[in-house]
Amino acid sequence: MSDKNQYLYGPVPSRRLGLSLGVDIVPFKTCTLDCIYCQLGKTTCKTIERKEYVPVGDVLTELKRLLDAGLQADYITIGGSGEPTLHSGLGRLIDGIKKITSIPVAILTNGTLFYLPEVRADCAAADVILPSLDAGDQQTFDTVNRPHEQITFDRLVDGLCALKNEYPGQIWLEVFCIDRFNTDSPQLAKIASAIKKIRPDKVHLNTAVRPTAEQGVEKIVPDKLQAIALQLAPNCEVIADFASSHCQKVTNNVPQTLLSMLKRRPCSLNDICSALGLDASNALVYLDVLKEQGVVWSENKQGKTFFKAH
Ligand code: SF4
Repeated sequence: MSDKNQYLYGPVPSRRLGLSLGVDIVPFKTCTLDCIYCQLGKTTCKTIERKEYVPVGDVLTELKRLLDAGLQADYITIGGSGEPTLHSGLGRLIDGIKKITSIPVAILTNGTLFYLPEVRADCAAADVILPSLDAGDQQTFDTVNRPHEQITFDRLVDGLCALKNEYPGQIWLEVFCIDRFNTDSPQLAKIASAIKKIRPDKVHLNTAVRPTAEQGVEKIVPDKLQAIALQLAPNCEVIADFASSHCQKVTNNVPQTLLSMLKRRPCSLNDICSALGLDASNALVYLDVLKEQGVVWSENKQGKTFFKAH
């Protein structure tokens, strides 16, 4: 059997989940949205069609192989490079994970399909669900998230409320703040009112610190983010850039781990060192080799260098 991972990547550092083993179950940029701030670029397949995009059995076999080899993580995170609730076998996948490990399962989702009872049922056994809400009305939702035509703002909020009513686990809602798009006072008041209806266990504020799908998507400075957090909800916190408290040294297959990490998320040199337990000079050696092979390149975002991969 090949020891190359097709569906799993990491563990990678996550600002909210510590050391997170990623599970990618839909093809690259297959999503219900086309967010202007997406770190993966423009959506190439905007759809609401649920199907078995990749075989659940193959994902579980890969996971079992990694666990048998001693892999450790704080969370197994179903997310990756598209919208995971589009996978029709999500419920079977979570059941299968629960049978082979006690590592908690998280779902990173844009939340747009929770209006469907079958999607809520599929996610019921997860330990934490991390959906998004970046707008307080249809117009801003259209501008920031560019949804599939059948996904409306009301559907998104109603679906999240239905999830809250049925789901026994934790819901941590992320709000992505973009200067001039969703941060004026009337818009923040509308987002706050939607949050009140949804009643998430936590609210996390994020902003565009990494390269984004569209130009002109500006990050918010920390002081302003703190002020926005106060306006949005009492349980709202700013999620700072990842600090290296959960680093784990990767002892083999560094180039492949590095590559699969950069395919899912642009990373700074600091991110890479934290995730892989490398010092900067060693990380740069690996990056140089991958750059020479033409599979990794760097991009500047507001004075900071990020590395990306095909
Ligand atoms: S940020 Fe997430 S929800 Fe938005 S387009 Fe990218 S993958 Fe889809």
